[in-house]
Amino acid sequence: MSTPNAHTSPRGRLAPSPTGALHLGNARSFLIAWLSIRSRGGTIVLRMEDLDHPKVKPAAADEALEDLRWLGIDWDEGPDIGGPCAPYTQSQRRDLYAAALAKLRSLDRVYPCTCSRADVENAQSAPHPGDEHTSRYPGTCRGKHASWEAACTVLPEGRIPAWRFRVDPGESVFIDGFLGERRLDLAPSTGDFALARDRDGAGYTLAVVVDDAAMGVTEVLRGDDLVDATHCQLAVYKALGLPPPHFVHVPLVVSESGRRLAKRHGDTRIRTFRESDVPAARITGLLAWWCGWAEFGESITAAQLLGRFDLRTLRREPAVLDEKVKRFLGI
Ligand code: GLU
Repeated sequence: MSTPNAHTSPRGRLAPSPTGALHLGNARSFLIAWLSIRSRGGTIVLRMEDLDHPKVKPAAADEALEDLRWLGIDWDEGPDIGGPCAPYTQSQRRDLYAAALAKLRSLDRVYPCTCSRADVENAQSAPHPGDEHTSRYPGTCRGKHASWEAACTVLPEGRIPAWRFRVDPGESVFIDGFLGERRLDLAPSTGDFALARDRDGAGYTLAVVVDDAAMGVTEVLRGDDLVDATHCQLAVYKALGLPPPHFVHVPLVVSESGRRLAKRHGDTRIRTFRESDVPAARITGLLAWWCGWAEFGESITAAQLLGRFDLRTLRREPAVLDEKVKRFLGI
């Protein structure tokens, strides 16, 4: 079972991906992550997760920072202000991922995979269900290719392999700070999962583990669609001999049909509200109402919410973008 690493003052992180605009859904998770750390006087690290080329949109990183600041969510270390763990942008941290990959290779924990499955294609970003991540990998490429270069020769030009992590048999268990005990047997569920689609290991799963560890993050609070991905990350922590953080997974904002927010559910981009001169407290008030910490329609700032934050009173149901909310937002 995993135990959180021992730091006295909590360190949390905000890890936006500049692949799209910040919307009400990710803003809510960021707000809760910020409140959880700030309410205990801890440190917030902002890390830009920009490894998913070509999905990364050049302006999205700056916009995410502006959106967060507008919401009253601040940070102590980040790409714009630096800090002791700089750089805070993943594309500038490739050496660290390469070193971790070299270690995993020396331990024979990874192998190159040339299967054209969707999860290989999607290995660069977090595996949010609903994106095309697929089910169990049967291990087709285990022991098949001697090296990344050898794997490349069997692929048509333009396609590259992925690194897969060899999973151990047996159950993975951790105590989630909101959901309680979580168990998953990786071998029959995901199988050997894709770690990165990059020769030097710069892909979501390896990078998130390496960075959270290197940045001394003690609490990872994020949407509950990544709860199963946590088991994969814990396996990588263990293989690398790194202490894992404490994980907290909170419900997502969903559409009335229960799906993750998407463009078709209306324009919920923070930038749109910001540029339409909607007061930020109206938006943080809505996010807080969804959490169970404010009245419907109440305007309240992120800082004012510090006194109301309590994970034990966070509503357990997903937050729903229903007609009432859409009318309130005018979308
Ligand atoms: N950058 C990732 C995302 O936006 C964060 C995943 C995580 O919190 O580990 O999906």
